[in-house]
Amino acid sequence: MQYLSTQSDARAVSLATALQKGLAPDGGLYVPQTLPTLNHWPAPAASLPTVATHALRPFVGENDPLAPVLPALCEATYGFPVPLTDVGRRTAVLELYHGPTAAFKDVGARFLADSLSRLNASADQPLTILVATSGDTGAAVAAAFHRKPNVEVVVLYPKGRVSARQEKQLTGWDANVQTVAVRGVFDDCQRLVKAAFQSERWNGRLRLSSANSINIGRLLPQMTYYVAAGLRYRARHGVAPNVIVPSGNLGNGLAALYARALGAPLQRIVLATNANRAVVHALEHGAYTAFDTVETLATAMDVGDPSNMERLLHHWPPPDALRQAVEAVRVPDDALREHMRRGPDAWDTVWDPHTAAAVAARERLDPDDNHPWMLVATAHPAKFPDVVEPLVGATVPVPEALAEVMARSHAVPTIDPTLDALWDVVVSE
Ligand SMILES: *Cc1c(COP(=O)(O)O)cnc(C)c1O
Repeated sequence: MQYLSTQSDARAVSLATALQKGLAPDGGLYVPQTLPTLNHWPAPAASLPTVATHALRPFVGENDPLAPVLPALCEATYGFPVPLTDVGRRTAVLELYHGPTAAFKDVGARFLADSLSRLNASADQPLTILVATSGDTGAAVAAAFHRKPNVEVVVLYPKGRVSARQEKQLTGWDANVQTVAVRGVFDDCQRLVKAAFQSERWNGRLRLSSANSINIGRLLPQMTYYVAAGLRYRARHGVAPNVIVPSGNLGNGLAALYARALGAPLQRIVLATNANRAVVHALEHGAYTAFDTVETLATAMDVGDPSNMERLLHHWPPPDALRQAVEAVRVPDDALREHMRRGPDAWDTVWDPHTAAAVAARERLDPDDNHPWMLVATAHPAKFPDVVEPLVGATVPVPEALAEVMARSHAVPTIDPTLDALWDVVVSE
């Protein structure tokens, strides 16, 4: 399997190369040259690493440096369970929030971290990953790379502009992970990262790389929990489920589409967005338009111009292929609030603001329970106590893994938003 850019017919590259480069040289996103299909599947009771290895094998070329280590990579990715819990009314919840930072981004970040660590084993200098974060991505990346050999991570976050709980998740690291608070906004952090990548001084001293959500090395491993969950749902209920994915940048939704294209037992795929309208608009009008981002309660889905739209349009061109592949439901804040409030009574579950979008879409599409559904729970509600707790009238206990990270929280340097200030704390020390 080779990987192409969505932007042009630039030379195809191996998975290992696509993963190390992140973005194609022409600015496009890497996509698999073809979408492979599988006819044989592991038993539904097989372990997640076993299913993941099987599902990813056709995406890794025979001569790819990652081919021989694929089983080990899948073991390193899944050090935690991914339960599929029946909650009544022909509906099951795929709980993707049992990793170290209690959100689905742990899966992709851990696969990418282990891959980059292994690919750099024989390099004479570690790879330095620069990440700008507005909250959750930085924590998942930091947790995934922490204490991995041959890689170092610098996480930049805007001081005073992430929640107290997010800040604790960003500052609970040591060893090869350094966190820096920046006096500014998220865009300042992103500008610093871009400036470092373009700087001769930085490139002369460090080997820089990134771990963006658009990296194909984060997207492909996310496919594997859809394969495993589809097999388990069908074994349990005798039918393939429809899937609803809370969506922002569309990485997770695209992973579901790749899984179904591979042949995994999944029927309709529904993207549940918050008030941001780009996806629903593209399906309604059969052509894509970007919008300004709207702020909502489901902050990790606040995206007006989803970067993975480019991959979606590449594989399933609008209007017809796109409309046949996927549906979308837009859920404004008042509906998110209502479904969080009703969660404990209606489903015996406390939903986080993102998963609430999937629940709202489920109610809208099938109030009479005519179809089987799998709702994707992308985060644990304890990550968003300020939103969730007043609505359900109870405190939400913090999962153990997340509590451990937050307990290690310590003071980190705060800098002005300049490249010189960043150099002083990252390189000169
Ligand atoms: C990132 C994130 C999403 C959106 O996922 P995409 O892959 O960007 O569509 C949804 N929910 C949570 C909790 C997230 O962190």
